[in-house]
Formats: sequence, C-alpha cells, structure tokens
Amino acid sequence: MFNRLYVHIPFCVKKCHYCAFVSRTPEKDELTEYPALLLREMLLHAPAARPLDSIYFGGGTPSLLQPLQIARLLEKFAVYLGLSADAEITLEVNPGTMSHNALKEFRDAGITRVSLGIQSFDDAFLVRLARIHTTEQSRQAFRDAREAGFTNISIDLIHSLPGQGLEQWRDEIRHAVQLGPEHISIYGLTIEEGTPFARSYPANSQELADDDLSADMFELADELLTAAGLEHYEIANYARTGYRSQHNSGYWKRDGYLGLGVAAHSFLRDGHGVRFSNPDNLEEYRQGVTSGHLTQAGTCQLTQAEAIAEYMFLGLRLAEGEDLHAFEREFGRSLESVYGSTAADLVKFGFLIQNERGLALTNRGMLLSNQVFEKFLP
Ligand code: SF4
Repeated sequence: MFNRLYVHIPFCVKKCHYCAFVSRTPEKDELTEYPALLLREMLLHAPAARPLDSIYFGGGTPSLLQPLQIARLLEKFAVYLGLSADAEITLEVNPGTMSHNALKEFRDAGITRVSLGIQSFDDAFLVRLARIHTTEQSRQAFRDAREAGFTNISIDLIHSLPGQGLEQWRDEIRHAVQLGPEHISIYGLTIEEGTPFARSYPANSQELADDDLSADMFELADELLTAAGLEHYEIANYARTGYRSQHNSGYWKRDGYLGLGVAAHSFLRDGHGVRFSNPDNLEEYRQGVTSGHLTQAGTCQLTQAEAIAEYMFLGLRLAEGEDLHAFEREFGRSLESVYGSTAADLVKFGFLIQNERGLALTNRGMLLSNQVFEKFLP
C-alpha cells in the first residue's frame, strides 16, 4: 500500500560536477516518450494505491518536461491511483530551464509547490559546480514562480563548497532569506565517487571544508534561519509554519510510496514494509515496462528488527523526534525493551533529549546524526 508517489525524470541539460544522481542528457525522442513509460509502469501498481496525498516530480530535471506532459500524467494518476483534494504536488525546477509562461502553465497543470535548485547565490560557485544557471536566473525564476501564483516555494542551498568561508555562507543565507521562500533545504557538499569533483578534490584537498567548518556552517544556518522565522523541522530542512514538505515528511514517517521511473525507489506498507528499486538504465526500464515484467532490484521484505531501526533513524531526523507511545502502538513493545540503555546513554552524552513525548536529537546530535543512527541498527 502507498499514499505517496515519487516520479523520477532522469534527464538533465548537462551533468553538474558534484552530481551522482541517475541523470544524463536526453537523446532523440527520450523526453517525448518517457511519460508514456511512466504511465505503463503505473498501471502495474495501480491496485495497491490509496488516494495519493502527495506527488513529487524529482530528478534529474523534471522541469525539462513540457507542462502539457505533466498535466496528462497528473490526470492519469488521479484516475488510476486517486488523488486527495488537498494533495501536495511538487516539481523540482532548475532555474536554467524555466520561463515565466512555463511556470504559469505548470501551475495550471496542477503543480502546487516548486522546489528551486538554486544551490548558491555566488556566480563563481555556480560555475565551479557546473550549474547551467546564473544567480540572476535563480532570482528571476523565484519571481516568476511567485507571479505565476505559487505560494509554496522551496529553495535548495549547498554549504561547504570548495573554498567557501563562513562569511560567504552567511551571505548565501542572507540572500535566501531576502527572497522569502516558504521552505529552505540546506545540504553540506559531499564528494561522490566517480564525479568530476572526486577527481578535482581528493579527501585531503585543502579547499574542502573540514568537519569544524562544516559544523559552524550548519550552526550558522540554524541560527540565521530560525531568527528569520523559519522552523528547523528536520536535519536539513526549514519551513515557515504550515509549509513543511508533506511528501518528504511522509518518508520520515515511513508512509508507503511508489517510485515511478528509471532508478526510482519504492517502499510499500505491507507487513513491516517492502523496499525495491527500478533499473537505473533507461533501456532496461523501457523493456521491463513494455513487456509488463519490470525487474526490480534489491526487493527486501523488512523484518521487525529492520523496521524498528528504520523507524528510529528516519523518525529521529525530525526535530520533534520519536513519540514513544506511537512506537509501542506500531511494534507492540516499548523502545526501552528493544534498545535497553542505548537511548539513555545518548541522552547522557548530549546527542538526544528526552521529553514527555519521547526522544529527539539535540543540535549536536543532528551534527553527528549518522553516528547516532548507527546505535539503532539491528
Ligand atoms: S541538475 Fe541536479 S540532477 Fe541534474 S546534474 Fe545537476 S545536480 Fe544532478
């Protein structure tokens, strides 16, 4: 069962130098034919759907699709999967692919929220990242989205860029706040194997931020964005009241979701949960959906122990943390009976706080979240 839908569009104008997502430049008619493949795949799963509470077009660069293609997809999703009246429907938008008219048409097509991949307000960094847009194009895309009637706009920023100092990062946040988005996602740069950045910046590169500088940047973002009235509701995400990402919140709460498209991941709420992913090769994906036998990789029916671990490290990402009563309702046992003194030790060392509701990460815990989550692995 699932109530959320992720749609992966694996095409970009060109590859950014830090990017390890499954995406490439489209060839010939690939952009034109791809939506039909998505619909064929959808039909393979339709009986398991509940009305969808959110749809997320991610990538890649989903804003490379035409508004009419998105409109047709949304019509079919509504007919075959069902769509809640107040469903959140997000489109990731690359500022280098957008025009005022296209944004209006995407809104008319049914998109309710745009996520702008701004990444930096410094043109020199945008060139280094090999982004296809300038800072001015980012600002224009934001203004166009507002004028098109979008009242729910998210922007992405990356910190710890090669050579970036704390004062430059302060400027980035200042520019972001000045735009006035409802939601901001903040990511620290990670150097991914096989990317041009991995060749340019080996682990010992002096240009990369060390752990202390990255931590300072994380804390500065927390200080400036919360002072600007945004709530730090998840490790990497800030929102004005009422504007949390419903779709991503569903991931952290372990809602079922179906991923359509090349390399898309799914999580269905059967038993303790089933995870699987689609082929990351377009040709293999095309053959699978057209033959009706899509081979999904890594199908995994979770055990209770695995589901509990996931519940912990996904739920703890949220600032409100884990509700101990909800844990007991879900698994029929108390958290203490599963983890013994683990949580108490993490509280003692300042990584978690315990309150009436349950457990949550401290700021220090958020900074070192991966080490904290490891403690909850089976
Ligand atoms: S636009 Fe996004 S998905 Fe495409 S190459 Fe750049 S970072 Fe990767």
